[in-house]
Amino acid sequence: MSHTSASESSYLKKNSHYWHTLSVNNVSRELNVEARTGLSEAEVRERLRQCGLNRLQQAKQESIWEIILEEIREPMILLLLATGGLYAIWGEPIDTLTIFVVIFIVVGVEIFNERRAEKALAALSQLAEPTVFVRRAGQPRSVPVEEIVPGDVILLESGQRIPADARLIESYGLEVDESSLTGESLPIPKVADLVLPEETPLAERQTLIFAGTLITRGRGAAIVVEIGRGTELGRVADLASAGKPPRTPLQRTMRELTRWMVWLALGFSTLVPLLGWLRGGQSPQQMLLTGFSLAFATIPEELPLLITIVLALGAYRLSQRQAIVKRLRAAETLSAVTVIATDKTGTLTKNRMQVNRLYPPDQTSRVLEIAALCNDVIAHHGQFTGDPLEIALVQAAETNQLNLNAFRQAYPLRGEFTFDNTRKRMSTIHDHNGNFWIAVKGAPEPLLAISTQYQSGNSQHFLTDTQRQSILAAASEMAGEGLRVIAFAEKMTSDEPRSQDEAESDLTFIGLAGLADPPRPEVKAAIVACRAAGIRLVMITGDHALTAQAIASQVGLNTNTRLLTGSDLDALSNTDLQAAVNQITVYARTTPEQKLRIVQALQQQGEIVAVTGDGINDAPALTTADIGIAMGETGSEVAREAADIVLADDNFATIVHAVKEGRLLFANLQKAIRYYLACKVALISATLLPVLLSVPVPFSPVQIILMELFMDLAASVTFVTERAESDLMQRPPRLANAPFMNHRMVLSIFTSAVGLFAAVSVTYLITWYGGAGLAKSQTVAFMTWLLGHVLLAMNLRSERESVFKLGLFSNRFILIWAAAIVAFVLFIMLIPEVQQALKITSLSSKDWTLIISAALLGSFWIEVRKQLNLIRRSRR
Ligand code: ATP
Repeated sequence: MSHTSASESSYLKKNSHYWHTLSVNNVSRELNVEARTGLSEAEVRERLRQCGLNRLQQAKQESIWEIILEEIREPMILLLLATGGLYAIWGEPIDTLTIFVVIFIVVGVEIFNERRAEKALAALSQLAEPTVFVRRAGQPRSVPVEEIVPGDVILLESGQRIPADARLIESYGLEVDESSLTGESLPIPKVADLVLPEETPLAERQTLIFAGTLITRGRGAAIVVEIGRGTELGRVADLASAGKPPRTPLQRTMRELTRWMVWLALGFSTLVPLLGWLRGGQSPQQMLLTGFSLAFATIPEELPLLITIVLALGAYRLSQRQAIVKRLRAAETLSAVTVIATDKTGTLTKNRMQVNRLYPPDQTSRVLEIAALCNDVIAHHGQFTGDPLEIALVQAAETNQLNLNAFRQAYPLRGEFTFDNTRKRMSTIHDHNGNFWIAVKGAPEPLLAISTQYQSGNSQHFLTDTQRQSILAAASEMAGEGLRVIAFAEKMTSDEPRSQDEAESDLTFIGLAGLADPPRPEVKAAIVACRAAGIRLVMITGDHALTAQAIASQVGLNTNTRLLTGSDLDALSNTDLQAAVNQITVYARTTPEQKLRIVQALQQQGEIVAVTGDGINDAPALTTADIGIAMGETGSEVAREAADIVLADDNFATIVHAVKEGRLLFANLQKAIRYYLACKVALISATLLPVLLSVPVPFSPVQIILMELFMDLAASVTFVTERAESDLMQRPPRLANAPFMNHRMVLSIFTSAVGLFAAVSVTYLITWYGGAGLAKSQTVAFMTWLLGHVLLAMNLRSERESVFKLGLFSNRFILIWAAAIVAFVLFIMLIPEVQQALKITSLSSKDWTLIISAALLGSFWIEVRKQLNLIRRSRR
């Protein structure tokens, strides 16, 4: 190792004004790497240690003290601390101690909650981390972008975001969009075999590629020369801008809601102690403390955090089910999706392709030759990596006795015009005895349009229209069986073509291959589930109309309606298209631009659209859709960047699972918020009523703070884990623009609060008027609250179904929470010192009977309400 460290440390000091002046050999020597094999793993570890991770910003680790300090600065905690301070001045040492123990627990719970959300979000962003293909120890490997080091040989393909500054060593038709770095919007051609003078400006350094820019075409390989902050991007990047993601619509609504509820809560927290002092004759000190604790317990400051927790944990759960949520907004929108627009290959089908048919029979080997040449598959020890379609072609060629590597060596690659789904074809240029052999493959119609001859036997003939028709008929026959059809063509020239148009013209048509790609077995059920959930499904594919139709009917998509092709679509005005999208289920031979138009037309019809995409040109459709879904396995990095969700398994059924999870998440959020706010309403009314009757406040300040702690925990921990109700996927999608706090929600918050309020008020007032004294009456009220709010949580686990139908034990967390409260009650009732600290007295069995019956009655009526609603609904 020692002999390498001198040159290694040198690359750290070099500035990039230097790399373009070196030849490929000199760069390899400088960075001590063999371009053909790449670095060894040991070497990579050593360089990682020296240079650190390839990041623009090093992650800052917060210490536990920083976290605590941050938490203590929160207004609510300051309020608590102030209460503690006042206790210390006015109260006895035991009161002060008690309140500080409680504050300690509250802060602990807050930290735990916030960390939970942050952890889930961090895990998510790690899952969405991009990877890159590198050549290491002679093998192609996919590694996280963060882990590449100077000297790494990276393999480049179109649609890829360049992970670091690098010197090209191979390039085939490479073009890079450097607008993110230089503002230049036209793609820049890049080449490996040049050495540039030192003064060449950045924008003209054609042998270098820069971190953060985008490969729009071609492929190649390059040696990494600078990483992280050392890259050109690292120099200019505005690091401060790497801020928090924007708030989701729901987070924004909740912040607004919270803002005005704060005033409401503050009003009550002033009114109650004021009345308590004036009418109930309680001491001003006691009432000030009560006011502070009431403010702490009733201000719904947790609401925005609650949403973040539910969204973050929901998103995390989605990711474990293969749908990686990149933008939190998507987790929220999923429950409102009304249309899923999906492509075909890989999502509805397995993307395990196999060549089934070759046409014409006498050109089989020629077809496979072109298939082997015009192909981006990476071959290594008999293993192939790349596009499944191309792998299938290579495998068919090898079965036909064609050795891929030997063949590639015999006809070395000179240039390439990579596949894109607008042109629907690709071509490669190879050396052939001093001439240039151009191999082209693509969709049959566009390929035939640029062919002028065809091969028959060993000779070439003029391609007549009749001949074209018969080839297209052969292609249609294959497509009708659901095969993906690829056409092959070639030409030989003495001059290297300068442009793509020049390369892809005047071709000799060779033949066709039909590839089978069976539907995924789970898709059928997923489509049925979609239908039941009121979600419409459309297929938008670049493939042949007949292939699309065949696959659509195989997976059980509605194929009775008209199919629209890309060219049909171009003939429609926007208004006509809007009218058409309501009926059409299958769109074929579409380009990404047309896909975008379909998405927009659907949205203009009021649909909430989730759309899938994989290609480099799919980004506009993905960002325009309400939810953009990119393919994790086969999609380009650009598509993944533009998407809100990345499907790790490319599977359509996963989208449907995601919708279900999205609905569950939203339902649980509603439940948690309903409970949280119902408790606050009950608390406010239960404290207000007595003071209006000139009776003291029913809870002591410490009790109020404890009550807030328990209800907070229930809302943020237990409802989140509630399981799906049986009809979750039988309901229509949530209306996207309906307000979260609609009449039904508000009504249900108040009706849920009534029982708890009534139970507490009745037990408290009976005890008080029975002459039991304040401490005893407050104990009774406190116990009724504890029991009542546990029962309320159980009831609110479903708005419609009875708890008994849900299963009393089906939510483990709510049981743990309830058990903790029972343990707490036993703890405070059985230990006299604790009783004293919390201002609690012993209770008789008569008191307990009163408490239990009031709490049961108060919550029982919610179950009665559910049953009444059920009867009413079934009558309708
Ligand atoms: P799907 O909905 O099935 O995923 P798509 O919308 O991704 O399809 P494209 O990838 O745009 O479809 O493919 C359109 C057509 O281009 C295919 O029908 C095929 O004929 C041709 N094609 C696909 N991949 C290649 C390739 N690697 N090389 C050449 N032609 C290809």
